[in-house]
Amino acid sequence: MAKKPRTPTQPATQLVNAGRDPQAYFGFINPPVYHASTLLYPTAADQVAQRSRYQYGRRGTPTMEALENALREIEGDKCAGVALLPSGLAAISTALLAVAGSGDHILMSDTAYWPTRMFCDGMLARMGVTTTYYDPLIGAGISKLIQPNTKAVYLESPGSQTFEMQDVPAIAQAAHDKGALVLMDNTWATPLYFKPFEKGVDLSIQAGTKYIGGHSDVMIGCVSANTKALPALKDTVYTMGLCVGPDDMNLALRGLRTLGVRLPRHQESALKIARWFEQRPEVSRVLHPALESNPGHVIWKRDFTGACGLFSIVLKPTPEKSVYAFMDELALFGIGYSWGGFESLVVAFDCGSQRTATPWKPEGPTLRFHIGLEDAGDLIADLENGFTAMAAAR
Ligand SMILES: *Cc1c(COP(=O)(O)O)cnc(C)c1O
Repeated sequence: MAKKPRTPTQPATQLVNAGRDPQAYFGFINPPVYHASTLLYPTAADQVAQRSRYQYGRRGTPTMEALENALREIEGDKCAGVALLPSGLAAISTALLAVAGSGDHILMSDTAYWPTRMFCDGMLARMGVTTTYYDPLIGAGISKLIQPNTKAVYLESPGSQTFEMQDVPAIAQAAHDKGALVLMDNTWATPLYFKPFEKGVDLSIQAGTKYIGGHSDVMIGCVSANTKALPALKDTVYTMGLCVGPDDMNLALRGLRTLGVRLPRHQESALKIARWFEQRPEVSRVLHPALESNPGHVIWKRDFTGACGLFSIVLKPTPEKSVYAFMDELALFGIGYSWGGFESLVVAFDCGSQRTATPWKPEGPTLRFHIGLEDAGDLIADLENGFTAMAAAR
């Protein structure tokens, strides 16, 4: 017998229970992992009438359904459905393909993830879709950039690498007033700390590779959509033949169950370390919207309920070799890009040449950190060693 339906619950409870129905799989806690392509019909009449709950491995399995249902439940009531893609970047390109075609125009935040720009400037341009990059701080002023053929306004908040905060509700309102859809990359906050559909987003994108997977062992992406945007999204996923392997969906489901304890820990340690960086003489600025000193703090506080483990710093001018000495000295921070796993990371970045609508000219070298689940005191001691090595290399 099935258990009685749950009453509405808090996010931590949702993460544990969403998309799971043990009585549907013999009482075992987790849904089985279906490795499946073909599905057999019991009779010829069933086949001709296409009478079956599932049609084909690519179109849906109980594993896919479990992850999609879990993600939809976490996004909240205004989310009508979720599509799973083989990476975060595939989620971005699929969402854009779902909303724009030949002759259309899109507005793209100047601080979007770099490969998103490459997709717009490459494949979308070849298809006859034009892209205008806009200042992420534009707010309601986006209205002036919307043309009759503008199909979508794309946001990423905070911005990639430099963490500018966008006024999502103001931009969404202006876009909707002129008939454009609103897309947002919500990988940084996850639906736990930013509810896109309550702020006017129509299609919300996540690199599940980051915090949903959470263990640096899976590539997966997802796009969540409201009622208005879902049909075009599902149609694009289907006609492109996109699907995710069952073991990767299972890893994402497993990651989701502990997101509610991992993310607050990433947040707490990252804030502690960001505040420590603010006191260091080597650091000029810390780019973290949850810090009171950050220009985007007011918007972050208004719209977000938390922050993850990812932020950047701008160093005071120092020779390149001293920055490398700092990075190479760190024992607990790996040097690597993709974040959201349990481990701490650092990368040097220079995105000045990637921006076209707004200048980015920092006063010194820039580093991005991902704060993992290690002890924050150990991480600070490691960073202290790094600064000692930096001074010695000057
Ligand atoms: C990593 C990342 C992506 C791409 O995800 P992949 O799974 O690596 O393709 C997209 N957006 C943001 C903000 C990211 O950090």
